[in-house]
Amino acid sequence: MRNQNFIDRSLKSLWNPCTQMKIQQSQSIIPIKRGEGVWLFDYDDKKYLDATSSWWVNLFGHNQSEIKKYITDQLDLVEHVMLAGLTHEPAIKLSEKLSHLTNLGHAFYGSDGSNAIEIAIKMSVHYWKNKGQPKKNKIIYLQNSYHGETLGALSVTDIKLFRKNYASLIKKNNPIKTPDWRYADKGETAESFALRCIQDLERYFQDNHQYIAAFILEPLVQCATGMGMYHSIYLAKARDLCTQYHIHLIDDEIAVGFGRTGKMFAFEHANIKPDFICLSKGLTGGFLPLSAVLTTDNVYMAFYEDKIEKGFLHSHSYTGNPLACSAALGTINYFENHDVINQNSKTSAYISERMKSLSILPISNLRNIGMIWAFDLDGATKKIIKKISSKAINRGLLIRPIGHTIYFMPPYVINHDEINFMIDTTLEVIQSSI
Ligand SMILES: *Cc1c(COP(=O)(O)O)cnc(C)c1O
Repeated sequence: MRNQNFIDRSLKSLWNPCTQMKIQQSQSIIPIKRGEGVWLFDYDDKKYLDATSSWWVNLFGHNQSEIKKYITDQLDLVEHVMLAGLTHEPAIKLSEKLSHLTNLGHAFYGSDGSNAIEIAIKMSVHYWKNKGQPKKNKIIYLQNSYHGETLGALSVTDIKLFRKNYASLIKKNNPIKTPDWRYADKGETAESFALRCIQDLERYFQDNHQYIAAFILEPLVQCATGMGMYHSIYLAKARDLCTQYHIHLIDDEIAVGFGRTGKMFAFEHANIKPDFICLSKGLTGGFLPLSAVLTTDNVYMAFYEDKIEKGFLHSHSYTGNPLACSAALGTINYFENHDVINQNSKTSAYISERMKSLSILPISNLRNIGMIWAFDLDGATKKIIKKISSKAINRGLLIRPIGHTIYFMPPYVINHDEINFMIDTTLEVIQSSI
């Protein structure tokens, strides 16, 4: 039992994220020694299938050798330099690639997702100030949104549990009605519900546009609040409204960018061009923390002035870290070399087919887009959900339900045997827990 040693030391010294430590203490924490593909191994050499790609980050599983090579090659050159007054090949090349992929030509780097949100929010508000419209300074967001937990990001995140204790530090705003089709009326399609929600957005814009800098959203999937999905027509119409009312559209692709929804980026489903795109999580394939905000020539040029204070003076110490940029280049290169988007559509079809076996359970709202599956377990109490996750862990399957929603966001490299294991195990642990 080598695990126990790590568990004891960890609980004494380490404060885990998104965790009530007292509750954690009474459950078991899993010490991970190494990873390979979709599998994680603990110190007793027991293996676990990482069905959430480690919080949606490890697109190609663990220890992916091609991405790793990009980092080790860069390690022989330079590990880090500041990016003010200096520049380097990995950051330049990555900016060129991201510009090519997104059609937005200016890349600004941060270290993680919430950084990217802070950057996009600040850029948008600063843009309007530079344009002589300082009253346009509100950022509008959707109900059930999640954009991260630093103060700026939290101010556009609609999760009470995360906001409540810091309410005095953040701006209060009313979120816009979510197009998540689970809230549709009986018999109403996802599309007509999305259009109904657009009317809400339009009314809000009509009344308040002179105070709004930007509208931020998670395109097509509101991941962190339970994989709520919505019709792409919402994105298309929201873009139109933003254009009409002179409001920036901030497209937070931190969770769903890089192929998760079946296209390289979710905004492609609606054929739109956002004003800002935020990327992180899958950007480095899970190797190193990095985020990027991409924006238009128009936004860039609003900062391009003689006066220093009109410039975007934001910075992070690790902005554009060469190792992280190299990991991102390795990730993008992997997409190019392995025809990932097409391969994923085959994997996705197989998983969807196998998901049908779960229909014997008391579940509702079974939903899928690309490489994301979710369903709600009817009548499941917190206790039942806890039982399901811990039984799954005992059986070697790592899932992390959100409320009564159980979801899969597996690494793209998952094979048929691993898929069967993931779904069969889920079925069995639910059946024996309810
Ligand atoms: C995870 C996430 C963030 C925040 O990213 P961090 O790296 O955790 O700070 C922001 N937006 C979305 C949509 C996310 O899923």
